[in-house]
Order: sequence, then structure tokens, then C-alpha cells
Amino acid sequence: MTGTDAPSRFFRARVTAIADVTPSFRRFTFGGDDLADYGDPGLDQRIKIVFPTRTLGLDAMPLGDDWYTQWRALPEEQRLPFRTYTTRYVRNHLCEVDVDMVSHDVIGPASDWIDRAQVGDEVLIFAPTTAHSGVSFGIDFVPPARVDSILLAGDETAAPAIAAILEQLPRDASGVVAVELPHADDAAYLPRHPGFEYRIGARADGERHAHLVESVTDAAARLAPAGAGADVEEVDVDTDILWEVPRTAKGGAALKSARLYAWLAGEAGAIKALRRHLVAERGVDRRAVAFMGYWRLGRAEN
Ligand SMILES: Cc1cc2nc3c(=O)[nH]c(=O)nc-3n(C[C@H](O)[C@H](O)[C@H](O)COP(=O)(O)OP(=O)(O)OC[C@H]3O[C@@H](n4cnc5c(N)ncnc54)[C@H](O)[C@@H]3O)c2cc1C
Repeated sequence: MTGTDAPSRFFRARVTAIADVTPSFRRFTFGGDDLADYGDPGLDQRIKIVFPTRTLGLDAMPLGDDWYTQWRALPEEQRLPFRTYTTRYVRNHLCEVDVDMVSHDVIGPASDWIDRAQVGDEVLIFAPTTAHSGVSFGIDFVPPARVDSILLAGDETAAPAIAAILEQLPRDASGVVAVELPHADDAAYLPRHPGFEYRIGARADGERHAHLVESVTDAAARLAPAGAGADVEEVDVDTDILWEVPRTAKGGAALKSARLYAWLAGEAGAIKALRRHLVAERGVDRRAVAFMGYWRLGRAEN
């Protein structure tokens, strides 16, 4: 289904503004008539962005229903790269969408584009449409209806999703935000929710994940009821995808209520260690924990 009633599709979008929000977060505002029916299910809605390269334009991307099969069948040098991001804000009446991207050293096609992008440049965004209904496939924050506390944890790639979740949680929600960011000044990126305690750490040189592991371990000790550890099926993060978002068959939360609901996203190796800690060592019900390896150190997304 690629017509106007499709629940998701590719949108052609043009950069209309670029703003550095903090040292590591660059906000790209995309515009174009096509964005009038860009869907906004909210929370951590993930999207795919297809980037043009120095040699391939966006017309090289297959756009039909079976775009992924067609894309995979192309010779490697004819495949446009795409990467996963999070919708930050949607303004359908202005045909505008904001996406916050981490700006860092050029390490792959996305960071290469982020580094040199200018107003007027185009991308393709695969996202839900306004025709979308029900539980969005691309939302992984699915807490039980009743939770005492929420733990939101991750690195800079997870910060846009955490920011969106914080802005949309009710005022009486409470919990801990444990985030590791590249610079101390990046702390300003995260919106403040009155019910949350913030454990934001700047990454010390060569110490990736140290703050994240310490702050999650500390939060878990306070928020998670001491329970018997459960067996954790080990995932090889170098060959398998670390992605576990407990849901019912209908897409809702796997539990009706829980003391703690944890949402953890970021580098797969760190997330795997945190998953083991919460479930195996603290005994947190695995149906109340969403674990997502957003990227893997040393491996490109596709
Ligand atoms: C569901 C989801 C939502 C995401 N949302 C966002 C978002 O809102 N904003 C955002 O900026 N990113 C987000 N990301 C992360 C983003 O997709 C990756 O950072 C992206 O793949 C980097 O692309 P690249 O082409 O620059 O590098 P790649 O070609 O994918 O990787 C090249 C090399 O760089 C390493 N690498 C990849 N990412 C990073 C990184 N962040 N820091 C250091 N090394 C890295 C890889 O290990 C690899 O060795 C999200 C990822 C997922 C799965």
C-alpha cells in the first residue's frame, strides 16, 4: 500500500533549518508539501532516513511496498544508505518535521551527511502517516497502565527519544533519567520533568558507558524491589539484534502494573550488560523492561 491510506511510507523532505541545540545535538527541520500527512504517534517513534551520497541521488531508492527486498537486491554500490532516527516534533499545518541528530566525528554515511548538510538538501524519511491508527509499530515505550517508577536510560543516540517521552509523560509520573552524553553542556538538551531525578553524566575520555552503568545500577537498587534473579537468555550482540520490547499480541503492555518500568536504549554492549543487571541480578520482571541496542560499537547499521 503506497497510496494516501498507507499506515507508513516514504516522505520526500527538504532541509529548511539547521540549529545546534547543544554541542552534540543538531536539529534538522525538514519541510515540503509531502509532510502534511506525516504521522505523529508520539513517544519514541522511530523512523528511517535515507541519505543521498556523494555519488547517488535519492532517485536510486526503490519506494514501492517491497522497497526493502528491492533495495537488498541492488549491487552494494547502488544502495543508498539509511539509518534509524526518532521523530522529535511534527507540525503538519506547516508541513514541518524536526529530527535531532547527534553530530560527532564522521564515522559513516549518516554522520557524513550531518556534517555537510545545508538548507535545501533532501532526504527520504520512512515514517507513519496520519492514516496510521492503533499501537504504532515504531513505538517501543509501552509501559504497564500502572507503574510506581520509570527508568529511562541511554546514551546520546537515545536522548531524542528520552526527551520526547519526558515531554509526553503525565505530570504525576516519576522516576529516574540516567543518560551519558558526550559534553557537560549537552545536559541542557533533556527537558525537565518535575517527577524525575536526573543522572546526566558527561563522558570522560576513553570511559564510554561508565556513567551509564553506574547510574542505572544505582537507580535500580533504589527503584527495583529486591527480587529473585531470573535467567537471562544471552544475546550475542555481534551477530544478533538486542531488541526486546514486551508486548501483548495486540501490541499493548505485557503487564497491567509494575513497581518499575525500565526503557533502555543505546550501544548494544552496554545495554546488554544493563539488561543482565536488571533482570538477572535485581530480579526485575522482564515483561516490564524494554531493551534496545540502537547501535553496536565497531559495526555499521546496514
Ligand atoms: C530506534 C533508533 C532510534 C535512533 N534515534 C536516533 C536519534 O534520534 N538521533 C541520533 O542521532 N541517532 C539515533 N539513532 C542512532 C543512529 O541510527 C546511529 O547513530 C547511526 O546509525 C549512525 O550512522 P552512521 O552512518 O554515522 O554510522 P554507521 O555507518 O552506522 O556506523 C559506523 C561506525 O560508527 C559506529 N557508530 C555508530 N553510531 C555511533 C555513535 N552514535 N557514536 C559513536 N560511534 C557510532 C559504529 O559502531 C560503526 O563502527 C537511533 C538508532 C535507533 C536504532
